[in-house]
Amino acid sequence: MPQPRPAALKPPPALPEPKPKPKSLTEKSVEKPAEAEPRNEEATKEKPGPEPTPVPPGTVEVEFPIEPVPDPICDALETSKEAEFERLPRLTEGECGALTPIRLIAIRPKDSQPVVLDPPITTQCAIASSLVTWVRDSLQPMALKHLGEAIKGFQSTGGYQCRPRNHVAGAKMSEHAKANAIDIGYFQQLSGKTVKVGDPTEPGLAFMTEIRGKACGPFTTVLGPGSDPSHAEHFHLDLAKRGRNKNALYCK
Ligand SMILES: [Zn+2]
Repeated sequence: MPQPRPAALKPPPALPEPKPKPKSLTEKSVEKPAEAEPRNEEATKEKPGPEPTPVPPGTVEVEFPIEPVPDPICDALETSKEAEFERLPRLTEGECGALTPIRLIAIRPKDSQPVVLDPPITTQCAIASSLVTWVRDSLQPMALKHLGEAIKGFQSTGGYQCRPRNHVAGAKMSEHAKANAIDIGYFQQLSGKTVKVGDPTEPGLAFMTEIRGKACGPFTTVLGPGSDPSHAEHFHLDLAKRGRNKNALYCK
């Protein structure tokens, strides 16, 4: 079994990018080895077996801690009560998993109409925190402006799923596989009316266009109708870390 070299925590420097392209980053061109991301810990966890898997240069071999991993974002949300959630045990499933997953039930921003997830999803507190910002600053104000009433819930079609992007075999693993993404199919207004993602009629379309634009920032990836055929009827929001400073946005 190969032993990690002393320098294993420091991946070799990646080739410099030709130039910064903040608005047109492609998903595959910007992923670089990270030094301490849970994703790498998940990906390189060794499994018992007759043939040890060779470790590619630059990856990090990490023993999983036995104790639950602290998550300061969860602590903050518990204190503020702006998200209703339950902490879940660590998820480990091959390349997939998350160190600090939660079952997210509702978003309850202060001074704003709460939004219930239907159904609750397995995700992480960072996603819940971004949802708090988005619901408070964009979703509810835009709902009042375009629909005349607040939103009380939305259909959450995807939380944690151990799968490659767009379910394509061999593709890079989806952020869903890290419990780092949420999909939304429709929103439900206080009156019970629903507005669906992908519905071309007004006033829903104007509402969707505004909240989608304003999701870019609270979330680092925003996909939806027009991005590609697999997102024609739902928004995909995630917190993938991209680019040199791990904060590049991909909103297409
Ligand atoms: Zn998705």
